[in-house]
Amino acid sequence: MSIPKNINREHVIESIQKVDREGVPERRESTRFSLLYEGKYYPPKYVVSIANIFANGEEYSPSLFSGGEETNRFLKGLGFSIVETESDKKFEKHKNTWIFQANPEIFDIDNYVKDHKYIWWALRQGRFCDIIELDDEVFMWRSNGDKRGTGGILAKTRVVGLPQERPNDESAKDYWHNEDWKKPYLGVKLEVLEVKILEGFIRRSSLLDHHVLNELLILSQWRQTNYLLSPEHSIELQKLWNISGSNTKSEIDTIGLEILIDSEITETEKEQIIKSRIGQSSFKRDLLAIETKCRLCGLSDERFLVASHIKPWSQSSNQERLDVNNGLLLCPNHDALFDKGYISFDDDGTILISDSLDEATRVFLNINETMNIKMNEGQQEYMKWHRGDIFNYYE
Ligand SMILES: [Zn+2]
Repeated sequence: MSIPKNINREHVIESIQKVDREGVPERRESTRFSLLYEGKYYPPKYVVSIANIFANGEEYSPSLFSGGEETNRFLKGLGFSIVETESDKKFEKHKNTWIFQANPEIFDIDNYVKDHKYIWWALRQGRFCDIIELDDEVFMWRSNGDKRGTGGILAKTRVVGLPQERPNDESAKDYWHNEDWKKPYLGVKLEVLEVKILEGFIRRSSLLDHHVLNELLILSQWRQTNYLLSPEHSIELQKLWNISGSNTKSEIDTIGLEILIDSEITETEKEQIIKSRIGQSSFKRDLLAIETKCRLCGLSDERFLVASHIKPWSQSSNQERLDVNNGLLLCPNHDALFDKGYISFDDDGTILISDSLDEATRVFLNINETMNIKMNEGQQEYMKWHRGDIFNYYE
């Protein structure tokens, strides 16, 4: 089956309006791609399903067509713009949180997560196949095995590859204590973010004592491999993990050693830099304290706002990296345009738009010549740099 050919542009717009009114059901949110319409993002596949109501009288079942290329091509054919959200790491989206379990009697999970940046894990609960998404968080659980009281969470990872059939687990065969690695399985690729084998390890016993996490399914039904957490459990587990003593692995690696050994900056600055590098979190928080919405379009939903550096992080000094004046709060669209040098601002804040953007693109991306922003002197200085070195220098 494929998408009904009689769905036209009007039907899609009606669908978008319905989504505006009624929202998107939890499991139908978009993952890799978004339909961009009048400055807002929509899940392409869901929009097509709903558009069918207006074309043919009923919602089109998501099982009848595919959400990637097929849907995108169809919508583009009707003149809509599709943007990739996966490549834009700064675009924060709803994430699932999982616990994946290993039995140390048959698999050496400790060393497997210690030795690798990327690992494969079996997805044994088939019904999760359609739910698991890129960038989902996965906590790795080591079961008791034959040692009572040793079970718990020892690593945090994230999904970087969707489930796929693998002929065997040969790449990890040294970690298997039996021959199970020879069997084909459905594997998910994970990036190991943090490992806490000694300090910071979250014990099963401390979860049993926790006022919310004591309801975790894995504590009562411990025979599964994959567990999907409720949003409430997810938040609580995140908190617990973050306050548990850490020996971070790859997050620090990605920052660049020069910062950590730079003796000119204080420990606090180092810490802030690391944080801002990892999630831009403190920089964004500082910026949110003085601004509350996208400078250009007014988008105010914090989840989508990006703390954009005017002078890019990679080219800033440590002091400039933390300077709030070097930040602009923007929506994902306007951040992309600014970051890649398609727009900038002159000294009095009037927008400068690259000639390479045609009229349609300007409309879709919601920019026009009349836009302007207010800047203080500090921001003007950074903007001077942006005009000279970023504006019109496209990637
Ligand atoms: Zn905006």
